[in-house]
Amino acid sequence: MAKEFVKDITSMDEDFAQWYTDVVTKADLIDYSSVRGSMIIRPYGYALWENIKNELDHRIKETGHENVYMPLFIPESLLQKEKDHIEGFAPEVAWVTHGGSEELTERWCVRPTSEVLFCEHYKNIIHSYRDLPKLYNQWANVVRWEKTTRPFLRTLEFLWQEGHTCHATDEEAHDETKRMLEVYADVCENILAIPVIKGQKTEKEKFAGAKFTYTIESLMHDGKALQSGTSHHLGDGFAKAFGIQFTDQAGNLQYVQQTSWGFTTRIIGAMIMVHGDDRGLVMPPKVAPTQVMIVPIAQHKEGVLDFAYELKDRLSKSVRVEIDASDKKPGWKFNEYEMKGIPLRLEVGPKDIEKGQVILARRDTGEKIIVSMEELDEKLNQILDDIQKNIFQKASKHREERTSIASNLDHLKNNLETKPGFVKAMWCGNRECEDKVKEETGATSRCMPFEQEAVSDKCVCCGVTANQMVYWAKAY
Ligand code: AMP
Repeated sequence: MAKEFVKDITSMDEDFAQWYTDVVTKADLIDYSSVRGSMIIRPYGYALWENIKNELDHRIKETGHENVYMPLFIPESLLQKEKDHIEGFAPEVAWVTHGGSEELTERWCVRPTSEVLFCEHYKNIIHSYRDLPKLYNQWANVVRWEKTTRPFLRTLEFLWQEGHTCHATDEEAHDETKRMLEVYADVCENILAIPVIKGQKTEKEKFAGAKFTYTIESLMHDGKALQSGTSHHLGDGFAKAFGIQFTDQAGNLQYVQQTSWGFTTRIIGAMIMVHGDDRGLVMPPKVAPTQVMIVPIAQHKEGVLDFAYELKDRLSKSVRVEIDASDKKPGWKFNEYEMKGIPLRLEVGPKDIEKGQVILARRDTGEKIIVSMEELDEKLNQILDDIQKNIFQKASKHREERTSIASNLDHLKNNLETKPGFVKAMWCGNRECEDKVKEETGATSRCMPFEQEAVSDKCVCCGVTANQMVYWAKAY
């Protein structure tokens, strides 16, 4: 790579954290501001989020949910209604104490999540079994006072959707919890090309106030795991705290069963860390703001630019295509759009025009393909599909290579050091063992996967008989 063309990106192997920072800033996804732990999402980053959001929003609506909007602030007394919930969130809450120069009689928090606001509303609008299920979703920003932050992965303020639903029975709420986890897994695997492990969080790791939490976990290039989306069965804990009751068909008063589920801008961090390389981003074609970048060659020659613009008009009917007709050198452009992860570059110069062809360069493999003008539309879509599949397979292979099995603590520690990644090991179910694994190895329980395997018959920590397999990993 000709150095003079490239905005320097630290190599992944040299310093993965610095590589990540370089990529998010130099590929124009974000900028920093004077607000600690928060980011300015620039047009390229925001267009990516909008594409992800559209894919997810469409699925949320397809499964019967309606979008609503709740207030940004939560009065302290409301937040305190559910004991476990406030205990869990208290350390992460930002408080508003003044309005103008006047001190408030009651503090308000900036929503870290909106369960209590939905509950207050549900109490007012749910009375009968005919009002159920209530399937609401909100797209919003939330604030959690995180100590250490990193763009997209963990920010003080982040964008997300939060689904909040009420059901007549425990079984219906359970089905909903599973359904929405499947929706998240679908978006991750089929849209973002990120393979995920689906499973349940341990009691220690579950959401504050939930009966249980389902999660999807993914593995980053450096072997660290990332919780990529969560779906909670809330049971009737919130319903009891808020008095959300309905009259069932037999005329009895019952508490509703609830769920909540959230998916955030964190997923962009996952996309970067799963697919990126030393040249920068690699965007999955399905969410790439620009799927094809046309770079005219020898554009000063007569007819080249006209040809390139006509081509853009033609292709824009089937793909997201842009053209860079600036006076920068082609080499600079090649490197810039590789760094930005644009799946395909289309080169066209006087010779190509003469021969009735263009050259396509794939971001994922670097392969160059000559395509005739007649075949171009069809080929573009085929190659974009192929890139989408290829990066998913590559990520799956990486995860497979970075997944090991351990039967005792030394083994687990050794695996994490020699081959950072997921370690499958049995667990007896005791909190003490879970804590000890973390203390001694730095790994946390990521989930108890739905697809269980008996990798041994003893707890990785205490050695007693165990039948629960857990994925352990160091995590972001
Ligand atoms: P929760 O409501 O705690 O279940 O969080 C929902 C999802 O938000 C989690 O699965 C995380 O992937 C994500 N998340 C949690 N904290 C942050 C943060 N500070 N920045 C970005 N995403 C977050």
